[in-house]
Amino acid sequence: MRIHGEYIIKRRTDCNGKFSKYSDQLCRNYLKEDFFNICGYCGKPMELLKARAQIDHFIPKDFAPSKENDYSNLVYSCQKCNRGKWHHWPTQCVEYSYNEKEGFVDPATKEFDLHLERLDSGEIIGITEVGRYMVEKMRLDIRPISIMWKVDVLNRKLEKIANIIKRLPEEPNLIELYRGYIDASEQLKHSLNVLYNQNESM
Ligand SMILES: [Zn+2]
Repeated sequence: MRIHGEYIIKRRTDCNGKFSKYSDQLCRNYLKEDFFNICGYCGKPMELLKARAQIDHFIPKDFAPSKENDYSNLVYSCQKCNRGKWHHWPTQCVEYSYNEKEGFVDPATKEFDLHLERLDSGEIIGITEVGRYMVEKMRLDIRPISIMWKVDVLNRKLEKIANIIKRLPEEPNLIELYRGYIDASEQLKHSLNVLYNQNESM
């Protein structure tokens, strides 16, 4: 399965040179929209987090100071991935973001899916050397990524059930649906507590 699920992340192309600062509210709004409000690297839905989304410079500022406010170099990211990636840039140049062994793949490109994959359990694995490098740097293998994924799945399920209940007040299986709703809510609450305790909700 893809890291981003059904979302195809693509940056709008008319924004380079448009912002005086990458942290401008408009820039942040565009990124939020283009990245569907999920972390580009781990796919975590930002609406589930306590902290605000961060803006990662895909090519770190040290290597490309001129790209600091360049929209095409920005990645909507959670704090955990942003910190893990930090200033690592093994290719040491701006032309290539990765080689055959290590580096980073821009989450707003098709290539991203060639290096990383999500298992049915929600875990993220690297399927190439580069993918495994990214997993290691952003600690995608030891963070509670799969619980976060399950929380998102549960959340969507709850929304679906709530909509059915709203639409069909005479539904004969209403009690069963309602039980399902309560059950999923309880699971969700439990999973969220686990996430808060493990700091993934940052
Ligand atoms: Zn992330």
